[in-house]
Amino acid sequence: MKTLLEVKQISKSYSADVKALTDISFTVGEGECLGLVGESGSGKSTLAKLILGLERPDRGEIILNGVHFHTLKGRSLRDARKHVQVVFQDPTASLNPRLPIWKAVIEPLENYPDVTPAFLSEVRNSKREMAAVLLDRVGLGQELLDRYPHQLSGGQRQRVAIARGLSLQPKLLICDEPTSSLDVSIQAQILNLLKELRNEFNMSYLLISHDMASVRFMSDRIAVLKNGNLVDLFTSEELFSSERQVYTRQMVEAAVL
Ligand code: ADP
Ligand code: MG
Repeated sequence: MKTLLEVKQISKSYSADVKALTDISFTVGEGECLGLVGESGSGKSTLAKLILGLERPDRGEIILNGVHFHTLKGRSLRDARKHVQVVFQDPTASLNPRLPIWKAVIEPLENYPDVTPAFLSEVRNSKREMAAVLLDRVGLGQELLDRYPHQLSGGQRQRVAIARGLSLQPKLLICDEPTSSLDVSIQAQILNLLKELRNEFNMSYLLISHDMASVRFMSDRIAVLKNGNLVDLFTSEELFSSERQVYTRQMVEAAVL
């Protein structure tokens, strides 16, 4: 499998006392889903922000598609960023309450007017139609186009956030606790949707969760973070192997698998 993302010996501190990540290395292959699990405060979101270019590492390298992402600035950073999109935990916080759904969904496309993904090329002349296609891909109907975020359910809002993440057809979609803010009954639907989209778009995922069960559901490999250290990394089939670290086994026991 070709490597899409390479994270090499990354460290990040927020202050002398808060060492968020220490010497983290891993890869994500093209089309691969890497699950990243760890309890709250273990550094998962920090890692996501570094890969998104929202924070800079103190040390180490982030190589995306052969490009040293962490050294880029200005226009080249902007160009590289379009390949990585993110779905955050809380869709209410990530959607502008004053934007109707159709505008929210195509917002990333407006930031990159030169980009039209292949799956939107037939409707490239109409932004509303592009939004309708995107909503359809995440299982939402056109009747939502003119609604506002507060008029949608939590699950619908997260689908909108996913549609927005898809709009530039990224190579890598980072999902940071994508189901943690949702009712348990809705969580499986969202994970199923992410799984379907992965096949459809051949995207790579970094699927972040504190819950081993949701990560195991769709990950090819699983990385375990503890206090900013990568303590285990293995294929999903190896989850129950005797070689697993004690900490990984504790996470397995805490989950409903
Ligand atoms: P997780 O997503 O696994 O819960 P985070 O990456 O959010 O973990 O946090 C890792 C550590 O870094 C925690 O100790 C957290 O308090 C700290 N941290 C995260 N963001 C900041 C920030 N902007 N400023 C200072 N400390 C931070
Ligand atoms: Mg987090």
